[in-house]
Amino acid sequence: MSVTGIIAAAGSGERFGAGFPKAFIQLGDLTLIEHAIASLAPVVDQIVISAPAGFENQMREIVGEEITVVTGGSTRSASVRNALAVATGDFVLIHDAARALASSDLARRVVAELIAGEDAVVPGVAVVDTIKVVGSSGYVESTPNRSSLVGIQTPQGFKRSVLNQAHASQAEATDDGALIEAIGGKVKVIAGEDSALKITYPPECGIIFPWF
Ligand code: C5P
Repeated sequence: MSVTGIIAAAGSGERFGAGFPKAFIQLGDLTLIEHAIASLAPVVDQIVISAPAGFENQMREIVGEEITVVTGGSTRSASVRNALAVATGDFVLIHDAARALASSDLARRVVAELIAGEDAVVPGVAVVDTIKVVGSSGYVESTPNRSSLVGIQTPQGFKRSVLNQAHASQAEATDDGALIEAIGGKVKVIAGEDSALKITYPPECGIIFPWF
């Protein structure tokens, strides 16, 4: 059974505010995209990265020739579709470059569920905040019971044929699990990890080093 790792790295990183794509931000010795690759590489046979349009060459310089770089789309779902088009594995792991510190163990546990027969597997962690649904007028509409809420992370794993089916309608969602739900598929949630947090905003007093 072969596995393709797809890393969605085509976001602009506007909220982070570095002035260049977030995947190129340096964290310790490596850029975020290199951290993401390091966590998937021990578990997958092929890696495909969606790079921001216009930054494909910088991405290739960083990741080397063994990794396929495609041009991302204007949405995350479009970026995933562009990478999925060249994926060859029986299974695919879809990972966000923004969750650069997810462990290889998490990727391994997702793949184990796929091998055991699941079509779609997503990691999740218990929500610690109380979540409210707020209407456009700015008033609270409802407060869902927190015990059934889970914060969903990546890498998310799929049987490639099933994910292709879910993406066939060119649907948009903030994760791939939602596209499986939309076609009536079952999505299994496994334990995520704190280190798979999404790097979205800069640290209060951090120093950011651009790669180029
Ligand atoms: O924008 P959001 O926070 O949902 O981004 C999650 C991941 O999707 C990031 O790693 C980002 O680089 C990627 N992305 C992408 N193509 C886009 C937008 C986001 O690959 N057009």
